[in-house]
Amino acid sequence: MSDTVEGGCLCGNIRFQTTKDPSYQLLCYCTDCQRISGAANFAAYGVTIESIVVTKGEPKTFDITADPGRTNSRRFCSDCRSRIWAQIDELG
Ligand SMILES: [Zn+2]
Ligand SMILES: [Zn+2]
Repeated sequence: MSDTVEGGCLCGNIRFQTTKDPSYQLLCYCTDCQRISGAANFAAYGVTIESIVVTKGEPKTFDITADPGRTNSRRFCSDCRSRIWAQIDELG
């Protein structure tokens, strides 16, 4: 039995593995998540950044300053533009 899950982008150029057990799960209603998802909320699966291992490709980074002044560093595929994950200050 594996304790990891795999993920990736739509075109398959980026693949990663992370732990099966999230630190937290939440529905976020912030404006950034509403914009990025086009929906009223966004389901998030939280893990520590150390537990993410990129197994294929190299995600691009887009940094935005989120409320209240934290940096939210978003990773995406430069080919298909899929969101991969977001690294948020404090949450790790
Ligand atoms: Zn892609
Ligand atoms: Zn949010």
